[in-house]
Amino acid sequence: MATLSGSARVAGIAGWPVAHSRSPRIHGFWLERYAIDGAYVPLPIRPERFRAAVRGLMAAGFAGINVTIPHKRVAFEICDSVDETARHSGAVNTITFRDGKIEGRNTDGLGFLADLRGHGVDPAAGPVLILGAGGAARALAAIFQALGVRVTIANRSTDRAQALGRDLAGLQILEWQQRSDALRDQALLVNTTPLGMPGYPELELDLGRGDPTLVVADLVYVPLETRLLKAARARNLLGVNGLGMLLYQACPGFAAWFGSEPVVDEDLRRFVAADLIDQ
Ligand code: NAP
Repeated sequence: MATLSGSARVAGIAGWPVAHSRSPRIHGFWLERYAIDGAYVPLPIRPERFRAAVRGLMAAGFAGINVTIPHKRVAFEICDSVDETARHSGAVNTITFRDGKIEGRNTDGLGFLADLRGHGVDPAAGPVLILGAGGAARALAAIFQALGVRVTIANRSTDRAQALGRDLAGLQILEWQQRSDALRDQALLVNTTPLGMPGYPELELDLGRGDPTLVVADLVYVPLETRLLKAARARNLLGVNGLGMLLYQACPGFAAWFGSEPVVDEDLRRFVAADLIDQ
């Protein structure tokens, strides 16, 4: 790491636990690439201390922070202002401290769209089926609706899906068992559940029910190629893993805190992917 000056900008990621986070690796890569006088540090913060810790970080002169599990909802509550995606999803993953105020954003949705476009996919091309109804599903459903895209949700527990349906009018809510049937006529499928990650069962889904042009996206990035994405490849469907979203969602925060628009390229992908192998 480069030597810091007395006027170095400082940011970090707040989570509990936070040791699993790849954000320090991503921001560290960019800080070095752009030779920026700044640092990005992990901030393990217990849930009951989160509110006080954020005020303390602002008082200590931090430029801002990323927020991960389990703080995204409380982060939303303590912000003085939030962007539209954060408002729709009720969750904040990027905070900027400005003039003693806490500005919140949710960049997950934008990150996902940027990655889709990087794969040559137009996110507004057609209807989307989202599996899951948690924080990530909320952010994606809100951003696809803002593009005028029809969004269908299938979630294991119906009450959570219905709560999402109440918050975002116009969503189609299905039973979890209907997920394979619902693939027909969809342009895009997005798995926002942790199914397929180590320690979780595999996602059971019959991709044969989908159109031959279906794009299959999995937010999971450990492993980089889930069984869902292997199945998509076997059917010659375009598959998109969760790594690109992870990289793109980091861009707005970096630009706001360190004053330089970062670029997501193959060098960064390789650098972060190297840390994901064998997990
Ligand atoms: P979350 O709020 O906890 O939501 C998890 C969702 O998965 C819920 O809808 C839950 O259903 C469902 N689920 C959990 N276990 C399940 C199971 N065994 N069978 C069926 N459904 C199950 O989590 P989140 O923040 O939305 O994150 C979801 C996933 O996306 C995580 O794997 C996370 O790592 C990933 N993610 C990736 C990125 C990225 O940049 N690539 C960004 C954000 C999130 P119930 O409602 O029934 O519990």
